[in-house]
Amino acid sequence: MTHASIRTVSIFGATGSVGTSTLDLIRLDRDKYRILALTAHSNAKELAKLAKEFDAEIAVISDVSQYDTLKNLLAGTKIEVAAGPDALVDVAGRSPDWTMAAIVGCAGLPPTLAALKCGKTVALANKEALVSAGALMMAEAKEAGATLLPVDSEHNAIFQSLQGGRIDQVRKITLTASGGPFRTWSKEQMASVTPEQAVAHPNWDMGAKISVDSATMMNKGLELIEAHHLFPVGLDNIDILVHPQSVIHSMVEYKDHSTLAQLGSPDMRIPIASALAWPERMKTDCVPLDLAKIARLDFEAPDDDRFPAIKLARDAIEVGGAVPAILNGANEIAVAAFLKRDVQFLEITEIVSRIIDSYSPPVPRDLADIFGIDTEARVRTKAMIEDVRV
Ligand code: NDP
Repeated sequence: MTHASIRTVSIFGATGSVGTSTLDLIRLDRDKYRILALTAHSNAKELAKLAKEFDAEIAVISDVSQYDTLKNLLAGTKIEVAAGPDALVDVAGRSPDWTMAAIVGCAGLPPTLAALKCGKTVALANKEALVSAGALMMAEAKEAGATLLPVDSEHNAIFQSLQGGRIDQVRKITLTASGGPFRTWSKEQMASVTPEQAVAHPNWDMGAKISVDSATMMNKGLELIEAHHLFPVGLDNIDILVHPQSVIHSMVEYKDHSTLAQLGSPDMRIPIASALAWPERMKTDCVPLDLAKIARLDFEAPDDDRFPAIKLARDAIEVGGAVPAILNGANEIAVAAFLKRDVQFLEITEIVSRIIDSYSPPVPRDLADIFGIDTEARVRTKAMIEDVRV
């Protein structure tokens, strides 16, 4: 730490849903933090605004075409400006006390790995990085002695439920799932879902990509893979339970059949606050849980027929090797195509499944291999979508 009570912080994906929630929490206790880096992809205006407000040392925009805009917006300040994916990696290596990895998609993998290499604390929201390169990331964190704090509400709940327990004492982990906006819809109804309907999540306010993933339930599939890497209890010991109210964020059952769970209002600032203050606790202005008002909690098993993405992800991690990275790359492209209205909602999972079945590259050994697999999966998925459209 730079000073007994001041922590240096970098936020990757500062302009996004998780990034802005993190900054909201920092606003509550501004003097405790010094902002090293804030990053965005193309939203130079918002990035410049945040960099000025938080007096960041450096602002990085990954889309190089936005460099001049950002530079002009920050002219006359002391804030350093950089652009491009390599700049993200360089800045991630500047070793802040705490890094928030909240870039969406596999694009967040290189800076997240660079942050882990510093051996400090990394709060991980960017689940796609862990899905594509879980083994590599976990090994990097271990070798560097980094602390990896899960931010995804389910994994943060498991992490909290494991405090005071040990992973070898666990019998089962249960990831809860809201079921998304189409939980009760038939396949026929889902066939004509629009992007606007898919991004309107009933409980959580999130970025577009994760909202669509929640609607297809691929999000739960990605989270299953994430949990498999973060909490090595064996894939057969990780269950998924649909819980529409999103109050219980996940549960850990120990060998003696004692089950611990973490509960809270569905507000991402709660798990982010837990990671930001860890191992302490911070005050937040989030809505406290009022169980009497909620009155009832419901549970049901996921429906693999209407939501095949969970099984697809389970199979992908069971096979292992290149398959999780293919699943992720194909899903990113299929979701982007759905948001542009190039494919139908139900086609997203179908396309991912067909891409996984269409080829089998060798097991990745390093980051370059993973990026090769990710790139090929994207190219193949784009080509398949083009074929579907003609
Ligand atoms: P958003 O889409 O709201 O924000 C994404 C952020 O990443 C933005 O700052 C964006 O910049 C930046 N970004 C986008 N593409 C790139 C790229 N190619 N290179 C570098 N930066 C990029 O996403 P969310 O905040 O919703 O999600 C972020 C991550 O956290 C995802 O992995 C998601 O799965 C995970 N997560 C999110 C939750 C949520 O509640 N939102 C809950 C749990 C996990 P710009 O604004 O310029 O486009």
